[in-house]
Formats: sequence, C-alpha cells, structure tokens
Amino acid sequence: MKITEHIENAGGKTLFSFELLPPVKGKSISDIYDAIDPLMEFNPPFIDVTYHREDYIYKQHDNGLLEKVSYRKRPGTVAICAAIMNRYKVDAVPHLICGGFTKEETENALIDLQFLGIDNVLVLRGDARHADSGFIPTPGGHAYATDLLEQVANMNKGKYLFEDHDAYQTDFCIGVAGYPEKHFEAPNLKTDFKYLKQKVDMGAEFIVTQMFFDNSKYSEFVEQCRANGINVPIIPGLKPITSSKQLISLPKIFHLDLPENLTEAIQACKNEKEVKEVGIEWMIQQCKELVKLGAPVLHFYTMSNPEPTRRIAREIF
Ligand code: FAD
Repeated sequence: MKITEHIENAGGKTLFSFELLPPVKGKSISDIYDAIDPLMEFNPPFIDVTYHREDYIYKQHDNGLLEKVSYRKRPGTVAICAAIMNRYKVDAVPHLICGGFTKEETENALIDLQFLGIDNVLVLRGDARHADSGFIPTPGGHAYATDLLEQVANMNKGKYLFEDHDAYQTDFCIGVAGYPEKHFEAPNLKTDFKYLKQKVDMGAEFIVTQMFFDNSKYSEFVEQCRANGINVPIIPGLKPITSSKQLISLPKIFHLDLPENLTEAIQACKNEKEVKEVGIEWMIQQCKELVKLGAPVLHFYTMSNPEPTRRIAREIF
C-alpha cells in the first residue's frame, strides 16, 4: 500500500516507522531480522531500507603498485525489501540514489521493484564520495534527485528509456528528502524550497526530513513548506543521541544544530551510560511533542540498532 494511503487510513493518528541499513557485505539476512523483530510490536506500516553506492578500496601489490578496486560495502537493498515484505507483510520502502548508478541500472532496479510488488520509493541524490570533492554524477546517471524523480515519474506514465511505444505504467508513490535546517549545499533556504517544490510538482507525494533535535525546526519547516505551496505529508526523521562523540559527529555529518540544553546535559554526564539515558529521554520528549503537533509518522533512523528506538517507542505507541 502507498505511504499516503497508510497516512490517510490512520485518520490523524501518528504512525511508527523506521529505517534500516543493509548489513555490510559478508553478513547474513538474519542481521536484518534481528534489527526488525524487536520493533514489530509497534506495528510499523512500512520500513525503509537505505541504498548505498559502490566504494573504492586500494589493494597493495608485491611490486608496490596500488590497485583501485570498486566494491559495494552494503549491497542487497532490493532483496532485503523483498525479504521484509515476505516475512513481515509490511511495506518495504527502498531508497533510490543517483550516485553510482546509470539510468539503465536504475530502470532495471525499478522493474525489479515493481515485479516484487513494492509500492513506494524514496528518491535521493546520494552523498558525495568524498566530502571535499562535492557530488560528481556517475557517467550516464543523474545529477540531482529531481532528475531521478523524473525517471520514476516517467515510468509511472509508461515512458521507459529508449522505448517509443507505450509500456506498462508503474504506480510508485514517490517520497523525497527535506531539510528543516537547509541542505548544506543550498545557498539559502529559499533556493532549497524552490527545488523541494519542484520535486512535489513533478510527482513527489511525501517528504521525509533529515534528523533534527529541536521541534521548532520541524514546525517552521512545515509552515514554510505550506507557505511555498508544498502540501504533501511531512514525516519527521528522528535519531536519539546515544554517545558523547555524536556531539561532534552529528553536526559535522548531517549539518545540523544541537540545542544548548541538550549539549549541556550531555556534557554534564559522568559516563556513556548516562549520555545514552539523556539522549533517549530527550527523544521521548521530542516525540511526545511531535505527536501533539500532528506529525503523520515518527520515522526512526535506527542504523540497524533497534534497542534505543524500542525504548522510545514504548513510551509513545
Ligand atoms: P537533491 O534534491 O538533489 O539536492 C541536493 C542539493 O542540490 C540541494 O542543495 C538542493 O537545494 C540542490 N538542488 C536540488 N535539485 C536541484 C536542481 N534541479 N538543480 C540545481 N540544484 C538542485 N544517502 C544515500 O546515499 N543513501 C540513502 O539511502 C540515503 N537516504 C536518505 C534518507 C533521508 C530521509 C535523507 C534526509 C537523506 C538520505 N541520504 C541518503 C542522504 C542524501 O542523499 C544527501 O543528503 C544528499 O546530499 C542530498 O540528497 P537529496 O535527495 O536531498 O538531493
């Protein structure tokens, strides 16, 4: 079922969902089940699975030369989605990214997804391979999420690559990312909203936000979206702080601000156990407020570690 239908059917009740990462290459599907099982008591109508581009590793040869080898660290998104649907009978939402994929590879993946009965996709650009080089599109691939979205929207109209006859119309419900604190490459919020509006006008039916730790950022973002004519459901993406290192890593990686109160409370902790308690308690309060604000879904970035999310969800659902 489409995410928009799940939200409509809930009749204003806030739903629970979460995101998983495929396990690193060489691990088994049981890692995925171990990450899902503890969260099934909260009846998630859908579960997201991230997509990852290939990486490079360098192999040193006896003659001293370095060989650059391309490999996928976290393969398996499409198969994991199929396994989730089969085992748990909930909708799986694969992410699709531009980086690392040609248009033909994307089309083949979309055909597989459609054959598997997957109704939703989250369409993204993907991050740069190296932070300092900026995002470099893959030859024959897409440069922005808008371009990838156009490809999916075209398939929904029966337009496939290099086909001049009308083909089967897929019916993917398309989601996109939104940034309450602005995407770090956007020169300003106004430009960021311009592209977000473009995505919705091109067919995006829901938005999932980057994580945030101050609910006023979410409320202002929703307000600004509505003022800019963006009227689709906006699903808050959430992640509790569980270690003191995240005071540095989260702002650095995700380009967000951590509230002073939260930062001070974590700095006052005597050990990592206390930090985790503070992070979880903060997120419980955030979630309670988001439910009151009418958030359609609370969507957790679990990083495949279900325990903190379970503790939070038990206080809310
Ligand atoms: P875009 O919408 O392409 O935007 C990128 C930048 O370009 C923005 O600054 C925007 O303002 C600007 N822009 C947008 N469209 C245009 C245009 N047409 N012309 C000019 N400028 C434009 N990464 C992964 O690798 N795998 C994942 O599974 C994954 N899942 C994610 C899930 C969520 C909910 C979120 C929030 C992020 C996820 N990411 C994932 C990270 C994401 O790929 C990065 O944040 C990336 O830097 C931007 O993706 P985007 O889809 O927002 O890009």
